[in-house]
Amino acid sequence: MQLLSDTTFAAFGLNEKTVANLAAKGYEVPSPIQAELIPIALTGRDCIGQARTGTGKTAAFMLPSMERLDLSLPAVQILVLAPTRELSEQVMEESKKLCGGRIRLALGVGGRPIHTQIRQLENGAQAIVGTPGRIIDLLRRGVLKLDKLKIVVLDEADRMLDIGFRPDIERILKHCPQQRQTLLLSATMPEPVEKLARRYMIDPQMVDLSEDNVVVDTIEQFYITVDENRKRATLLRVIAQEKPAQAIVFTRTKRGADKLHEIFSRRLKSDRIAAIHGDLPQSRRDRVIRDLRAGKLRLLIATDVVGRGIDISGISHIINYDIPEFCDDYVHRVGRTGRLCSAGNGRAITFVRSDQGGELTNIEMRINTVLPEYRIDGFEASVPRERTQRKIRKFGV
Ligand code: AMP
Repeated sequence: MQLLSDTTFAAFGLNEKTVANLAAKGYEVPSPIQAELIPIALTGRDCIGQARTGTGKTAAFMLPSMERLDLSLPAVQILVLAPTRELSEQVMEESKKLCGGRIRLALGVGGRPIHTQIRQLENGAQAIVGTPGRIIDLLRRGVLKLDKLKIVVLDEADRMLDIGFRPDIERILKHCPQQRQTLLLSATMPEPVEKLARRYMIDPQMVDLSEDNVVVDTIEQFYITVDENRKRATLLRVIAQEKPAQAIVFTRTKRGADKLHEIFSRRLKSDRIAAIHGDLPQSRRDRVIRDLRAGKLRLLIATDVVGRGIDISGISHIINYDIPEFCDDYVHRVGRTGRLCSAGNGRAITFVRSDQGGELTNIEMRINTVLPEYRIDGFEASVPRERTQRKIRKFGV
């Protein structure tokens, strides 16, 4: 398992307004691609970043680019080329979030009124994000000028070449000053992308995080959206569906662990369930661990402090009944057990309330993986609000 660095956004030496803005937007820790790419890109060197979508790629290229931009110059200094309109719009939204209103941005995509885009450029846009076709159109009309350009970014370069944009990209790159920085992002590195890179970049530094995964691959990880009042029912369903050989259920509090233990021992009519937390006497804790190791326990309800020390090979499932408070705890809960799991592929399922989406994203950034949603056959762990209200109305309550 890759150990996590303690890098912060401030440690990159980014402008303090940017750092404050990132904190306000809920960006706590840099994702692996950000931690690797930002320091190199800040030096002005050409970079090739290999990373999957959803791993924080946009901030990885946008933060250093924005840092190198001259805020007092009302001319296009950053050009981001993306293969589709949707992706361009996504990059645009993310860039707006990242710059906190300090940079003038323009969007250059087809299928949207060109006059709005022309106006944005005439108003002194400093960065433009767009698809190759429309960018060429704007260049031809003479409204987009690239003589002050400092950085060009080719996002999802492999997809761009798939779609057959190669001549367009080359034409655009010929309009860019020789003295510039080129950043290329791609999920894969096929031959045409490498060729493009070799022709249009100077001694690029490679950052490859495509295979990177801080939690071992033998663990399948999921999240499930759960309403607070459906957590217990959901846990019962998950256990019924998964039939774990041995599972650890993590809660945030000792009281929470005791309560779940009490309810589940009763509901499941089983003595193969135990709880472990820091308030229990050492002798009791030792016995629980002994029983778990001997296979006498099927379900252990644990808090983080004690859970971290558990070192058992038969654990097949980790259930985060409460989403961990810190991303590191997620890695400890899941990564540790994953490494020790000998029962084939282990699974980790994290319960997330609808108001905890940000916490889930922080975990995903930390582990460099987008978690798929877990489904329970014939059961909804979260009922959309309007539906609950409608039901209440129907029953006249
Ligand atoms: P991207 O891979 O750039 O499409 O980013 C995926 C999502 O993660 C976007 O919604 C970003 O707002 C979010 N994101 C990117 N970096 C971070 C970070 N360091 N911390 C939290 N969220 C992030």
